[in-house]
Amino acid sequence: MTAQKFAEQASAENQRAELLDGSLVAEQIKREVAVEVSRLQQEHGVRPCLAAVQVGDDPASSVYVQNKVRTSEALGLRSEHHALAAETTEEELLELVEKLNRRDEVDGILVQLPLPPAIDEARVLRTIDPAKDVDGFHPVNVGKLSLCQPVIAPCTPAGIIELLERNGIQISGARACIVGRSHIVGRPLAQLLLQRDATVTICHSRTKDLPRVTSEADILIAAIGRAGFVRAEHIKPGATVVDVGINKVTDEADARELFGAEAEKRIAAIARRGFTLVGDVHPAEARSVAGKLTPVPGGVGPLTVAMLMHNTVTAARRRRTLNSDK
Ligand code: NDP
Repeated sequence: MTAQKFAEQASAENQRAELLDGSLVAEQIKREVAVEVSRLQQEHGVRPCLAAVQVGDDPASSVYVQNKVRTSEALGLRSEHHALAAETTEEELLELVEKLNRRDEVDGILVQLPLPPAIDEARVLRTIDPAKDVDGFHPVNVGKLSLCQPVIAPCTPAGIIELLERNGIQISGARACIVGRSHIVGRPLAQLLLQRDATVTICHSRTKDLPRVTSEADILIAAIGRAGFVRAEHIKPGATVVDVGINKVTDEADARELFGAEAEKRIAAIARRGFTLVGDVHPAEARSVAGKLTPVPGGVGPLTVAMLMHNTVTAARRRRTLNSDK
């Protein structure tokens, strides 16, 4: 049976994919981080510290950084927000990163991306001390990940693994397909899945006959940046579908087409604040074909911040060679 036919039949029988609650898993991880922070403080007098660097005042970046700083404080970590003017030069930014590298009490450094076009992003990421690279983007850490060495893995892919494992989804032996080959999501996620013995395929904009490839996957991950791109035809009936995308929908007709029976509350959100969020997976179609599906919002998004907190505590422990490393 084709996925489209399956979707029609499932819809007629009112079958719905189980939603994988990312917020719930993120809360579990944050509780574990808070316990570990308190233990480090009591047993070693160490309070892990995250330094977040932002250049310019892009509203989305400001929301992300504030969220990271607020979450750090809530879990008992120390945090610093270095907000630099949009006109900051590359040399000035590098100087700040080097200063943070030298300060022993700083355990994690994150430079919020994207940076203004005049700044060489790769050079900035290369300058961060790999031991403090809590985003896992430094070439040394990228190399360690591909060599299966202990490393701080990028937050979004690491969060997806936590979500799968904590929901009891079998990775070993599964066919996993990732659509998207970015350095922050697709590629590191492929390494993490491979380490856990999945058979991994990575697709991208040049992949031929995408639905044929994706519809073989037991675990399908979409990290593309295109609203509702993954449709019923891309999904193997019963598969686990992880939707990484975050896209804004501003048009009522689009919301109706994407959300089906749940469109009304999305349309109300558009009326209230001008947009509603949708992932890279078509939610209404995926709900009737997939076995399990991450919602947007409330799926992968909350895990990214939770894993940043986890990574900062791991960096603090490793830099200070403290025990009970996980
Ligand atoms: P990038 O733009 O860096 O990469 C997108 C990838 O999608 C590329 O590899 C591209 O292929 C591929 N792609 C584009 N069009 C197609 C197509 N028609 N068919 C197949 N593949 C295609 O995106 P990111 O990885 O940075 O982000 C992806 C999405 O995830 C975005 O919506 C972003 O907002 C979201 N995101 C969410 C996070 C979270 O915390 N939830 C964190 C990070 C990202 P090619 O390489 O050939 O160009």
